[in-house]
Amino acid sequence: MKAPGGLSTTHRRIIAKSRGRAVENWRAVLSLFRPIAAGARALGRGLLDLLYPPRCLGCGARPESPRLPLCPRCLSSLERAPEMAVAARLDRLPVGRGAIHRALALWIFDKHGTLQAVQHALKYRSRPRYGVPLGHLVGEAYAKVHPPPEGVVPIPLHTTRRLERGYNQSRTLGRGVAHALDVPLRSDLLARPRPTRSQTNLSRSARWQNVRDAFSASDDAADGHWLLVDDILTTGSTCVAAAQTLHDAGAEAVSLATLALARQ
Ligand SMILES: [Zn+2]
Repeated sequence: MKAPGGLSTTHRRIIAKSRGRAVENWRAVLSLFRPIAAGARALGRGLLDLLYPPRCLGCGARPESPRLPLCPRCLSSLERAPEMAVAARLDRLPVGRGAIHRALALWIFDKHGTLQAVQHALKYRSRPRYGVPLGHLVGEAYAKVHPPPEGVVPIPLHTTRRLERGYNQSRTLGRGVAHALDVPLRSDLLARPRPTRSQTNLSRSARWQNVRDAFSASDDAADGHWLLVDDILTTGSTCVAAAQTLHDAGAEAVSLATLALARQ
């Protein structure tokens, strides 16, 4: 049978199919170059670090371990976040501490403080590699006071945000935490299918409204005790929404570990 354009339906189907195959082939070819491009970027950064060794983001001195963004003196000068302050922050939210079993934030985050420079490097200046050693410090601190969870679940970013940034900073932190606790990284358990507005400049109640339905959890989350990992705990609404989603999927317990608690 001839379709109005002069081509038969079968011909149209064949053309559409071969077009689809061509697109798939191009995608396959492009995906081959992705690791090469990532390798070239890493090599470029490696060469830059060799020519200009990274400096401590706090004082400008050369750090003992180039893997960490701060020298030992700046690291030890960071203020530790009291456990009670973390609990008090979560208590202010609608489901608050009910959704979070145990919570730890390693340091206090001050605007314009040393940790802000670290957060910027981690989040906006394409230095995700700092995430793993920093996450390791968070994991070590967690292990000192709490029993290990079954797995570490980083707070996911919506795909658009992740593609813009090229990586998820919570995931790199999570890798370090999981390594320190010797448990698997389970980034497959939580997804963020709904884009949300930036939480900056939103009130506490607006932040909660903005994120409460943002996440979805896999059935594999059922019956487990999971440790959520994020960079900075501000109002806690994102982490509590993620914890509630894991509970809705049947998780037995959800705990939380973050790099820092924002001072309010
Ligand atoms: Zn320093």
